[in-house]
Amino acid sequence: MTLDRLPLLASGKVRDIYELGDRLLLVASDRVSTYDVVHPNTIPGKGAVLTGISAFWFDRTSHVIANHVVSYTDGIPEEARGRGVVVRKLEMLPIEAVVRGHITGSGWRDYQASGTVSGIELPAGLQESQELPVPIFTPSTKAELGTHDEAIDFARAAELLAPVAPDGDGDALATRVREASIALYRLGHEHARSRGVILADTKFEFGLDPETGELVLGDEALTPDSSRYWPADGFEVGTTPPSFDKQYVRDWATSSGWDKTPPAPEIPAEVVKGTQERYAEAYERITGEPLSAWLERTR
Ligand code: ATP
Ligand code: MG
Repeated sequence: MTLDRLPLLASGKVRDIYELGDRLLLVASDRVSTYDVVHPNTIPGKGAVLTGISAFWFDRTSHVIANHVVSYTDGIPEEARGRGVVVRKLEMLPIEAVVRGHITGSGWRDYQASGTVSGIELPAGLQESQELPVPIFTPSTKAELGTHDEAIDFARAAELLAPVAPDGDGDALATRVREASIALYRLGHEHARSRGVILADTKFEFGLDPETGELVLGDEALTPDSSRYWPADGFEVGTTPPSFDKQYVRDWATSSGWDKTPPAPEIPAEVVKGTQERYAEAYERITGEPLSAWLERTR
């Protein structure tokens, strides 16, 4: 079987989703976008890094929450090995489960405007990127294509979940999602810290198993695409720390003279190479093994 023989259900900016009977095949591509525009050339190995980091985390967190993983090898065409994962098809919940341990990005903007994030009152006088007293659950809507996710408070999340929740109890389901998300963040943060990396915030997507009703972690887990990872070395509050891997190609894009509207320019070979090295390093930093070990296991 080759990829082009499988029915393609959807194609995001980065991932392709194929139907595999009652399962799905998620394939992380090597595509790279900056400023939300995809470049014409790829970063070889990037997809494997994203899938391998997710695998690492699904493995280490299955005692906290069940996940959608079925296999990284069985049923996966050769050209997608390392980048692909066969998963249970879930009914995805209509919210994104964001957890923030540091105040940055849109959370920082909301805090500056209102002193709150997702309706949660935060201490006065926080500086950009500062660690919060405790990690907070700041859900958002799942944006339709071409729109942006919108921060919502817990009560709104519960309302959105009610139609799909067991017994219509959106509050109970939102509570379970919040508890699982914060527990996952804590594990991710603690581990990253031991590896010299700060996990500033992250986003999870959960679904319900259509047969059992079980709450299951889907999508990707604690990858550099779904999270903000900062090097702990040189971290300073009051600044916007550089992201671990993508910053390099983004810096190039910023200084390239491109006006950030489509089409995005071809990334020069040496920038591709530098970006590849940084992604591979992200894999190694987080998992403690070289990327080649993951490629070997999934061959
Ligand atoms: P982008 O990442 O480009 O902004 P996106 O997040 O919609 O857009 P992808 O990340 O490429 O797209 O695709 C993943 C999609 O698959 C998401 O819509 C996600 O909710 C869905 N998904 C992930 N895991 C499962 C699963 N186990 N069952 C059903 N759908 C899933
Ligand atoms: Mg996505």
